[in-house]
Amino acid sequence: VFCERVTGREFFLEGPLTVAFPDRYPLSPGHTLIVPKVHAADYFELAEAVQADLWRLVAEVKERLDEEFSPAGYNVGINVGAAAGQTVFHVHVHLVPRYDGDVSDPRGGIRHVLPARARYWDGA
Ligand SMILES: [Zn+2]
Repeated sequence: VFCERVTGREFFLEGPLTVAFPDRYPLSPGHTLIVPKVHAADYFELAEAVQADLWRLVAEVKERLDEEFSPAGYNVGINVGAAAGQTVFHVHVHLVPRYDGDVSDPRGGIRHVLPARARYWDGA
């Protein structure tokens, strides 16, 4: 799926080795995917130069999103492997802008990938 999109023309932003485009099912306004041009399923198998370009583009997209959407915060995440919820097996970084009040209690953020264990402050 992403191999086709990285050679398409709907980029939001592009680096030498990576591209960024809007998530088709955005969690919030501005939700963007940053994707290597080379095909790989596993982030940890990417060459260091690709990883570096990926994070450089994440920072660049963040600057653009700040200007366009003025979010109050961000979640940044990569799913590696089906057990972690990966469903598209071409590496992608989710950059998810967050807004005050978008959920009633945002505490824990990305900890909620394992909902039962997210709320460490409640004891247990
Ligand atoms: Zn691919």
